[in-house]
Amino acid sequence: MQDVVFASGNAGKIAELNDLLSPLGYRVLAQSEFGVQAVVETATTFVENALLKAREATRVSGLPAIADDSGLEVDALNGAPGLYSSRFAAMHDAGEGDAANNALLLKKLQGLSVDQRSARFRSVVVLLRHELDPSPIISEGFWEGHILERAEGEGGFGYDPIFCNHDTNTAAAMLDKETKNKLSHRGKAVAQLLNILKK
Ligand code: IMP
Repeated sequence: MQDVVFASGNAGKIAELNDLLSPLGYRVLAQSEFGVQAVVETATTFVENALLKAREATRVSGLPAIADDSGLEVDALNGAPGLYSSRFAAMHDAGEGDAANNALLLKKLQGLSVDQRSARFRSVVVLLRHELDPSPIISEGFWEGHILERAEGEGGFGYDPIFCNHDTNTAAAMLDKETKNKLSHRGKAVAQLLNILKK
């Protein structure tokens, strides 16, 4: 078994990645086990933010590290909230957290037709073999859809209740975990990483 650290505090994501990587001989450990602190995501691209997180995790743990960074891109808003998806409402002094983010996005798109509400989730996953690894493995996935006019469904997190995915034509929050993992931006990015690792 090869140990690898996942630069995330999300227990669900860590367990999910471990399920995917264990058949390939990897054991995924949480960065908290090594006392890795969350880094400030100061970069201006998903890939650079993911690299910042992975580099800190491998520096502190001395093990290879995987990190991801993701966000929602809305075409009518020129790709916003994008990199700032988790902080969207806070950056506009409109509250904080998922509900506030969703409310602000719905407000900004008020009056726009379905065609004008196109959006996609994007996820970048990186693997650094060591702190100074000059050629990280980088994979990317996206999930096309549009923003609904009101929230639907109880599952998922973040923008899931207002994101209608174009695979099932339902809100992402209506999907069970397994279906979402198969279709989602993150699921696709992780699948691509697995393919690279298998080679
Ligand atoms: P992170 O990359 O996990 O930090 O996600 C950044 C932000 O993008 C989250 O806080 C959410 O607002 C949004 N986001 C990323 N992936 C998803 C998803 O699968 N569903 C809903 N929102 C997401």
